[in-house]
Amino acid sequence: MNIITISAGSNCYLLSQGERHLMIDAGAPGMAAKIERTLAQNKIAIDQISYLVLTHGHSDHIGNAAIFQEKYRLPIVIHENDIALIDNPLSQPMQATHPIGKMIKWVGKGAMKKHPPQRFKPDLIITGTQTNRLGFGETIHPLPGHTRGSIGISFPSGELFVGDTLMNLTSPQPAYLWDDITAMQKSVQAVLQLPVKTIYYGHGRSTPISKTAQLRSP
Ligand SMILES: [Zn+2]
Repeated sequence: MNIITISAGSNCYLLSQGERHLMIDAGAPGMAAKIERTLAQNKIAIDQISYLVLTHGHSDHIGNAAIFQEKYRLPIVIHENDIALIDNPLSQPMQATHPIGKMIKWVGKGAMKKHPPQRFKPDLIITGTQTNRLGFGETIHPLPGHTRGSIGISFPSGELFVGDTLMNLTSPQPAYLWDDITAMQKSVQAVLQLPVKTIYYGHGRSTPISKTAQLRSP
């Protein structure tokens, strides 16, 4: 599987299996042109992408979803418990205790006021764990906690996309913000048990799963 990472306020990933493509997350509002440019440079036609999978409903991940759906008919996939976030980002107020989390919350609030993401209607709604629903051999894992509808996506070739359940700002860590910290800690432990090789984060560079060893509870 070929993976392109586009830094777009959050990581937007383009996965290719031969001629078939999948986009994971759509970047922050205002980043559509950068994503379009990068994909054009890689000779990928956006209207040929099979799905746009949103790891969760935060504006820095769904920011250009409406544009891609409207302009390229890209079908959007999201978990049912984050649909409310599309219409109302405040429907799941975030909590933070760490200074980094408090800062992200403050910066995020300002950005959202300035640049609210456009609304859209999802095309495919995820509920429980689903395997090969998108035809890429993928498994979609519900990972509630950071948001209620956070999901991870793993592939038989060993890649795992965790959205914001884990972030790699300085080192791999559980998200600094959450809707429900107990649920998030449970999701972090669940994700670290998956038989995968490499973790791709919503923020920060990918790492081998061994880099998360210190996060695993015995
Ligand atoms: Zn998030």
